[in-house]
Amino acid sequence: MPFDKDGVMIILSSPSGAGKTTLVKMLSGIDNFEVSISHTTRQPRPKETSNKDYFFVNEHEFKRLINNQEFLEYAKVFGNFYGTTRSPVIDKLSKGRNVLFDIDWQGADQIKNKKLDYKLITFFILPPSKEVLFRRLSNRDMRDKLIAEERMKQFERDVLHWINYDYVVVNDDLNLCFSRIKNLINSEINNGSKDYDLEFIREHINKLTT
Ligand code: 5GP
Repeated sequence: MPFDKDGVMIILSSPSGAGKTTLVKMLSGIDNFEVSISHTTRQPRPKETSNKDYFFVNEHEFKRLINNQEFLEYAKVFGNFYGTTRSPVIDKLSKGRNVLFDIDWQGADQIKNKKLDYKLITFFILPPSKEVLFRRLSNRDMRDKLIAEERMKQFERDVLHWINYDYVVVNDDLNLCFSRIKNLINSEINNGSKDYDLEFIREHINKLTT
């Protein structure tokens, strides 16, 4: 049983381009919320900071962490390894901090299956439409267009995992989406009533997958 003073775990997953990373950053601005920093073998992007956005490691180091059983979850995503180490997360939760995870569906499944002694709330973020997603993914040159087409194919597969999440939220407007998630977290923590329309979500999924 979790203690009342323990923090809660909040997972955000989404197909690429739905705006999840921005939402996680916004949520981390709420008092007592902290982002779990993942390890990855992918190369840093120009604006990313080591030990803040990710712990950037090579495959050798990543495999050492796997062998030492330091990961709460890990997965291969778009050809690179990503993982969440256990001890910083447990440390934060036991101090009463709420921990945000920006991880994919494979990691979300693993954490769910671990059935830890901490409350877990999972969110799946969706784009408003396939057209908007394609526009978001293909913003610059021809190379981006090719990557965008690949990611659209991946989208068709990733979107099917919505069913394993507690809540699915459509990112039509960033601020609106942020407050929907924030309100759902608050009502989960305080056992309040939830403003959530599953039928609307089912219809939205239908539109995205046909
Ligand atoms: P990016 O390379 O764009 O930062 O992330 C690619 C994908 O990997 C995103 O869906 C992101 O949520 C996911 N990801 C980031 N960190 C982790 C992690 O620690 N574990 C898992 N399973 N996925 C992660």
